[in-house]
Amino acid sequence: MNVARDKSITLIGAGLAGALLATLLARRGWQVDVYEKRGDPRVKGYEGGRSINLALAERGRNALRQADADDEVMVHAVMMRGRMVHFADGRQQLQRYGRDDSEVIWSIHRGDLNITLLDLAEQAGARVHFHRRLDTTDFETGSARFVDERDGGRHDIDFEALVGADGAGSSLRAAMIEQVDLGERVDFLDHAYKELEIPPSDDGSFRIEPNALHIWPRGHYMCIALPNDENTFTVTLFLPNHGDPSFESITTGAQASAMFLRDFADAVPLIPQLEADWERNPPGVLGTLYLDRWHIGGRAVLLGDAAHAMVPFHGQGMNCAFEDCVALARQLEAHADMADAFAAFEAERRPNAAAIQHMALENYLEMRDRVDDPDFLLQRELEHVLQERHPGRFVPHYSMVSFMLIPYATALARSEIQRSILVEATRDRQSLQSIDWESVDAQVLARLDVLVDAA
Ligand SMILES: Cc1cc2nc3c(=O)[nH]c(=O)nc-3n(C[C@H](O)[C@H](O)[C@H](O)COP(=O)(O)OP(=O)(O)OC[C@H]3O[C@@H](n4cnc5c(N)ncnc54)[C@H](O)[C@@H]3O)c2cc1C
Repeated sequence: MNVARDKSITLIGAGLAGALLATLLARRGWQVDVYEKRGDPRVKGYEGGRSINLALAERGRNALRQADADDEVMVHAVMMRGRMVHFADGRQQLQRYGRDDSEVIWSIHRGDLNITLLDLAEQAGARVHFHRRLDTTDFETGSARFVDERDGGRHDIDFEALVGADGAGSSLRAAMIEQVDLGERVDFLDHAYKELEIPPSDDGSFRIEPNALHIWPRGHYMCIALPNDENTFTVTLFLPNHGDPSFESITTGAQASAMFLRDFADAVPLIPQLEADWERNPPGVLGTLYLDRWHIGGRAVLLGDAAHAMVPFHGQGMNCAFEDCVALARQLEAHADMADAFAAFEAERRPNAAAIQHMALENYLEMRDRVDDPDFLLQRELEHVLQERHPGRFVPHYSMVSFMLIPYATALARSEIQRSILVEATRDRQSLQSIDWESVDAQVLARLDVLVDAA
C-alpha cells in the first residue's frame, strides 16, 4: 500500500492540530485539503464545546513559531507564573512553576487560537472544507465520503494519503481499525469535569490574581481556574463519577452550591452563576487512549488526540499535538516515500506520547492531593535548591515538561530518578536544615548527566 509521492495530502479535522499541520505543510509546498465536520468558526462563532481555555507551554510555542503564529497568539495570552493554591482554611500560596518570568506558561482561548491557525492555514494555501464529516473510507481505492450534517449531503473525494487530526473520537481511527488491528485501548478515568465561570468584577477587572493557575485541591477532587484575556476565569471542577461527593451524588445546581459552600468557600462569591452554569454545562469525560499502531502504510496516519488522547492534568495534550505536527511535517520532508515518513513519525512520537500520557495521570494525583502536603512542599523546596547546586543536571520535572523541548520520554526517565533522590533525601525530615548534602550531591552526580535541550 505504499503511495507514490506527489506532495498532496488530505487532513481530517481542522481543530488545533489539523489547522497547524495544514499551515506547516502548505508552506512547504504541499497541496493540502482539510475536511472539518463543524462550520467555519469565523462565520458562526466557535462551537468547540469544551475547555474554553488551555495552558500553552514551550513545546506548543516552539511549534507555533515554526508556523509564524506565535506573535499573533501571544497577543491574547495571559501569563501564569505558577499555581495559586487555595487551601481549605482559606490561605493562598503561589507555587512558582519556574525560576522567574522566563519560565511561565500561558492561558489562551481555544476558539481564538483555532481561528488564528485557520487564517494562517488558508493564507499558506491550504483549502479548508467545512461541514464535511468523514463518514466512510476505502483505503484500497483511496476514496472517502464526507457528510454535511446540515442537509445529509454526501461528498466523495479521492485521496493519496489521509492524516487523522480529528480528535479523541476520531472517525479515521475507527475506519483504520476496520482494516487492521491498531491495538486500541481506552482507560476512562473515574472522574469527569464541569466548567463554570468567574466573570470580571464590577469595575471590569479580574476578581482574583490573573497571572496564576488557581487550584483548590481537596483530596479526591479539585477545582482549577485559568484566566482569560477578557478578565474572566474558566473554572473546571474535577470530581469522581461515583461516591460522595461525585457527579452521581450531586445532580442539581443547588446541591453543587452546597458542596462549594462546604469545600470551596472562597470560590463561591467569585462564581455568581454557579447554579446556572452547573445545570447548563454537561460533565465531560476524561480518558487515555493507547494505540499500538498509528498508521496504515502510506495511506493513513493519526496524530494529536486521535492518536493519543490524554487526561488534561499536565496541560500538555495540545502542546504534544503541536509537537506531532512539527515532527510529521519534518518526516514528510525527509522521506521520499509516504509510508516511510509515517513509520518514522510513529517511531519518533509514540514513545513520547506514552510518556506524557503517564505523566499527565501522575500529575492529577499531585494537583488534587499533594500540592498542600508538607512532604511534597519540602521536596519542592529541595528540588529548587538542587537546581541551583547542579544547574543543567538537576532540572525540575515541571521545567523539563513545560519549558524544554527534550523528548517527553527523557523527561519521564529523569523525573523518576530525581523523584527517588528527593524522596530519599527528605524521608523523616521536616526542613532542609537536616539534609545530608554530601550524600544528595553524590547521588545527583552519579545518576544524572548534564541535560542539553533539544533544538
Ligand atoms: C478539560 C480539558 C482541558 C484541557 N486543557 C489543556 C491544556 O491546558 N493544555 C493543553 O495543551 N491541552 C489541554 N487539553 C487537551 C487539548 O484540548 C487536546 O489535546 C487538543 O485539543 C488536541 O487537538 P486535536 O487537534 O488533536 O483535536 P481537537 O482539538 O479535538 O480537534 C479535532 C477536530 O476534528 C474535527 N472532527 C472530529 N470528527 C471529525 C470527522 N469525522 N470529520 C471531520 N472532522 C472531524 C472536530 O470538529 C475538531 O475540529 C485539554 C483537554 C480537556 C478535555
